[in-house]
Amino acid sequence: MSDWDYAPAPESRELISLRSSYGLFIDGGFTAPVDGGAFKTVNPATEEVLGEVAEAGPADVDRAVAAARRAQTEVWGPMRPAERAKYLYRIARIIQERSRELAVLESLDNGKPIKESRDIDLPLVAAHFFHYAGWADKLRHAGFGSDPQPLGVAGQIVPWNFPLLMAAWKLAPALATGNTCVLKPAETTPLSALLLAEILQQADLPPGVVNVLTGAGETGRLLVAHDGVDKIAFTGSTEVGKSIQRTIAGTRKRLTLELGGKAANVVFDDAPIDQAVEGIVNGIFFNQGHVCCAGSRLLVQENVAEAVLERLKRRLATLRLGDPLDKNTDIGAINSPVQLAKIRELSDVGDAEGAQRWQPPCQLPDRGYWFPPTLFTGVSQSHRIAREEIFGPVLSVLTFRTPDEAVAKANNSPYGLSAGVWTEKGSRILWMAQQLRAGVVWANTFNRFDPASPFGGYKESGFGREGGRHGLEAYLAQGNETMGPAKVAAEDSHDG
Ligand code: NDP
Repeated sequence: MSDWDYAPAPESRELISLRSSYGLFIDGGFTAPVDGGAFKTVNPATEEVLGEVAEAGPADVDRAVAAARRAQTEVWGPMRPAERAKYLYRIARIIQERSRELAVLESLDNGKPIKESRDIDLPLVAAHFFHYAGWADKLRHAGFGSDPQPLGVAGQIVPWNFPLLMAAWKLAPALATGNTCVLKPAETTPLSALLLAEILQQADLPPGVVNVLTGAGETGRLLVAHDGVDKIAFTGSTEVGKSIQRTIAGTRKRLTLELGGKAANVVFDDAPIDQAVEGIVNGIFFNQGHVCCAGSRLLVQENVAEAVLERLKRRLATLRLGDPLDKNTDIGAINSPVQLAKIRELSDVGDAEGAQRWQPPCQLPDRGYWFPPTLFTGVSQSHRIAREEIFGPVLSVLTFRTPDEAVAKANNSPYGLSAGVWTEKGSRILWMAQQLRAGVVWANTFNRFDPASPFGGYKESGFGREGGRHGLEAYLAQGNETMGPAKVAAEDSHDG
């Protein structure tokens, strides 16, 4: 898209060794699925098959949950918290050591630019394990009573947009609090979770503490419905989140849901415009817009709308779309043909509803799944592209005149995951943060993550918080809550 000629700067594929087939990770080892099912995982930038991956069926879910239960009651639950911390620190250090390898694999399987997997995903993955390693032996001082107890076995289902990072968000707090885990990665991005399983072996994590069940939605559904699971943690679509909630209603299972979003990124006329433009770009084009908290609705104050749009368009024309493994790439591939079809469909709806589409001149590669950075102006609140999660590199632009109108428009959404505010007035930032019904409000920045900071939504964006001290709560028993079928092994009363 840029006039500048960059020489190719590809990260080396030699850093990883792909296998032709991958098994399930159950009870500390890789094993074939009982029913023998398998599916292929594909590089979305080239459509090349990367490998064949086992599909877990009912008997495999049984095996994994049983292994997790045994490990929880016999090993991980009774273990001294400071010992658990040592494992988590060890895992964090190995992730750091092998982060280039993990980043290349993540970009290959997901389509995200290597500069994002290398500089954002992987450092945050390691940081989450370090953060929760630090909590493991301090739980009695975390404000959850004098003797916090784990829930037992956690079933954890993660999506394809940040495969390894979402796994880390779920595994690290669960393990730090003494739970064991059965993790279900997304069908289109299973490989980094399987490499993480190898890292867990390398760290000598006791068998069964973490199990990885690859498969499609049906494997996730089996895990949710399984009687031996005490808690479900899910990140994904609102639709599947609602079906999970229906399934476990009336059971004793605990649930946290991190679902979709349609975040407003609000730019006031006193904002530093160049910084705001960078924030808008980061808000919606980071990770091809496959971000639950993406700033997919730009609300810009009317008197600066023209100036902001002019600079935004100029900036978009400099973004480089292409090979995710090239270190200069800003926008990688769309993760799957299904997601590409959804982005195309909703963008066509935007045209049909009368919004104006703008895309910079952009040559898409011949193979793979691609969508150019796109913005729609002339969007009104009733348009589907202003209400529904597109989950792609598509920005809907709306305008406002007063702060009250900005708040009303921003909150006019079934979602409430995140929001952004751009202004030089500190008092306005604080007022906006109070008014916006969103779990996270960024001020003069966007898409900033830190393991110490809780993350989660309101309304149809779900409930429960991940990250920080708040993230521990989702994995600790409350009041007289008892653990699952097996008896709880008492937590060591010594913190260290
Ligand atoms: P899903 O909600 O279907 O997928 C999330 C995870 O849940 C995946 O591991 C998936 O498995 C699994 N899953 C699917 N069906 C079930 C089920 N019935 N019970 C338990 N687990 C299940 O999202 P999609 O990948 O289908 O994406 C659809 C849309 O959802 C996107 O277009 C986007 O709008 C939104 N989305 C939002 C995300 C977020 O972070 N908020 C993340 C991903 C998607 P599998 O992938 O193998 O089917």
